Amino acid sequence: MKNQRRKKTICTHVGEVEDKRFKGAVSPIYMSTSYQFENVDVKRYPRYFNTPNQEYLSKKIAALENAEAGMIFGSGMAAITTTFLTFLVKGDHIVLQNTLYGGTTNLINQEFEKRGIEFTFTNGLNISDFESAIQPNTKLIHIETPSNPLMTITDMSAVANLAKSKGIITTIDNTFASPVNQNPIDFGIDIVIHSATKYLGGHSDLLAGAVVGNQEHIDSIWQTAINYGGSLSDFMVWMLERSIKTLVVRVKEQNKNALRLAKFLEKHEDVKTVYYPGLKSHTDYELAKTQMKGFGGMMSFELNDDLDSKIFLNSLKLIKPSMSLAGVESTMLLPTLTSHALLSK
Ligand code: PLP
Repeated sequence: MKNQRRKKTICTHVGEVEDKRFKGAVSPIYMSTSYQFENVDVKRYPRYFNTPNQEYLSKKIAALENAEAGMIFGSGMAAITTTFLTFLVKGDHIVLQNTLYGGTTNLINQEFEKRGIEFTFTNGLNISDFESAIQPNTKLIHIETPSNPLMTITDMSAVANLAKSKGIITTIDNTFASPVNQNPIDFGIDIVIHSATKYLGGHSDLLAGAVVGNQEHIDSIWQTAINYGGSLSDFMVWMLERSIKTLVVRVKEQNKNALRLAKFLEKHEDVKTVYYPGLKSHTDYELAKTQMKGFGGMMSFELNDDLDSKIFLNSLKLIKPSMSLAGVESTMLLPTLTSHALLSK
């Protein structure tokens, strides 16, 4: 309770750009691409990720994740790619859990081999699966919990401890949980990544990404990021800061609604399986309870074999079949045709 109150205060007050001149209630937007030097060491430029709006929003997201520092990116994929390519060079190896957002899996499968970066997807999510995938040249372990779309749960402390014992950096895609429901840094994970397009933006009207971690890691990511140039426009940074003000309120309501819906679907005679970590029937319900404060607004389910999911999807009246997630409206999609279409059957 106290923690959630603190989070609401962070959402509203941390990372506001003070309007010194007019004392407006909300942050002004700084759209300049050119800033007079304060001294030659401070060169502000949008692609340097250090305009006033970028700098202050980074503080808000870092605070929400109990991290020292952060950066805002033009998309979740820009955040993921830049982070991976900061810590992995030719000849290095990354271990990834086998259930991931399809875009991340595609990035690895389509881009890494030609860059000479080695990778292993785990066979499962037990700690022994991670341990057996580690090679002498492993530099990163990447996890996603809950994962898109099957809502698998990975034991964050176990992965963090394993990685630390071998000097490996851990990264997590925390998009599906949101910083309201899960703070991986508290469990020893080094770097937390978000597609801010989802819960953080929350209104299906902006594309953004965020990375937070300790200052040393963020400084390294920054060095790479300024070369790749995946920054977000300051107008969108401002929109994101505004949206995060209601993050706790939105996510708590989404948690409540999703749990109700998951329980309803679980009892429905036309539904074969429901994947939602807040259900007692979820394989990792007990583990989820130890690392999540709420179970999120996302779920997946399978209809009985005699039903056609495309017909079902197109028959819905209120819920729109569409990409993306975690806005205030409900959406639904078939991952095999969209987010995970490029994966094998
Ligand atoms: N991570 C997860 C879990 C996602 O679901 C998505 C997009 O759906 C991304 C990352 C990529 O985010 P973006 O579309 O903002 O690049």
